[in-house]
Amino acid sequence: MIPVIALVGRPNVGKSTLFNQLTRSRDALVADYPGLTRDRKYGDGKVGGHEFIVIDTGGISGDEQGIDEKMARQSLLAIEEADSVLFLVDGRHGLNPADEMIANHLRRSSKPVTLVVNKTDGINEDIALADFYSLGFGELQPIAAAHGKGVHVLIDHVMLPFAEQVEEARNQIDLDSRGIRIGVVGRPNVGKSTLVNRMLGEDRVVVYDMPGTTRDSVYIPYLRHDKEYTLIDTAGIRRRKHVKEAVEKFSIVKTLQAIQDANVVIVVIDSHEDLVEQDLHMIGYVLDAGRGVVIAINKWDGLQKDEREHIKSEVERRLGFVPYAKVHYISALHGTAVGDLYDTIETTYESCYAKWSTNRLTRILEDAVSEHQPPMVNSRRIKLRYAHQGGSNPPRIVVHGNQVNSLPGSYKRYLENKFRSVLKITGTPIIFEFKSSD
Ligand code: GDP
Ligand code: GDP
Repeated sequence: MIPVIALVGRPNVGKSTLFNQLTRSRDALVADYPGLTRDRKYGDGKVGGHEFIVIDTGGISGDEQGIDEKMARQSLLAIEEADSVLFLVDGRHGLNPADEMIANHLRRSSKPVTLVVNKTDGINEDIALADFYSLGFGELQPIAAAHGKGVHVLIDHVMLPFAEQVEEARNQIDLDSRGIRIGVVGRPNVGKSTLVNRMLGEDRVVVYDMPGTTRDSVYIPYLRHDKEYTLIDTAGIRRRKHVKEAVEKFSIVKTLQAIQDANVVIVVIDSHEDLVEQDLHMIGYVLDAGRGVVIAINKWDGLQKDEREHIKSEVERRLGFVPYAKVHYISALHGTAVGDLYDTIETTYESCYAKWSTNRLTRILEDAVSEHQPPMVNSRRIKLRYAHQGGSNPPRIVVHGNQVNSLPGSYKRYLENKFRSVLKITGTPIIFEFKSSD
């Protein structure tokens, strides 16, 4: 499991600034379920080769009256989910009574706490730090989140105890799983556990009796039509004796970890509910993590024809940002179209990890160009000469030519569509890079 870091501190100390520095990602997941706080934001952290999940607790109130209660309800949840806590204070404002309150709470938690003194840019660091030793958290970490100063050193320090754990977890995943690793994610009650059960309960599916049951997400390896797969069970169906409250069994951290561990992720959406930001963010998050995505619109049973039409047009409209993701309309409950998911899982996996020769890519490029010439620029025609693969997962295609910087967006889209259809790429973006030789 990749480690989870929580950011806590009173308002305005720079938590969101640090969160943005650590994630640099557009897709943070915000917990906004009934019964859960709206004040926690989750993102994928990547700094200097370290990978982790970061939680920003946002709004601990500065007012001393409310702080105990707010701490209890919001940050304590995040602290509980975390492996390590960064306690932020403001180096410009010095020690504050609210800091002391938070410190009291943190001292009672069993999690490792690092005291981080922010906004040390342009001020005397020693003086800024002096105030905070009295909080009793030992060594202080000075940073300037807004400028990224000290952030690398901080993360090296925080991640040090987890290096071994991360390595072990990676090896364990390889041991526990076989074939394509499939994550099934979605909001509470969309039908994830029903789908997982259905997938494992299909005829001719043989579940190996060796899941890694000691872990938070269970890996369930199985055989289907002579092919091996591993389902990553975020809903905990295997350990669940009876159905608990959705809020209890749903965890964003588990969702993010499952996405990290998967090769292909099925994002399950409930057709009986409106598509909400959460659904879209989850898809965005999967893509950000560089995983293949398959979309399953669930509970397709028992809908009238006009309801189906309406949902389909909504899906088309709202999911326009992932035109390459295949959408399946399924009923996990009745098993309708569940088997069809596998074709898409296979092509998505292949799309993510495929290797193509320079010859093949160049031939596709030449065909595309001869069907439809790039425009003239400065009375010279833009020339596209050859293409090679720059990477996979997500696939990267590098196109070499002359004046490629003047290539219009419409032509780039034409090329992308061409490569996409010839190479049969689904479920993943293709990254194009254009290199000029003049
Ligand atoms: P949060 O309420 O703890 O999430 O704090 P924010 O991240 O919103 O930051 C509060 C204010 O402090 C903003 O105006 C930031 O621009 C500023 N700030 C954050 N980090 C730094 C820093 O490293 N140096 C300075 N000078 N200002 C900072
Ligand atoms: P999870 O929280 O995402 O794991 O959702 P569950 O699998 O626990 O399902 C939530 C509820 O939706 C349960 O009452 C299921 O019986 C119901 N459900 C799941 N899939 C379907 C489906 O395809 N059709 C219908 N009508 N109900 C479904």
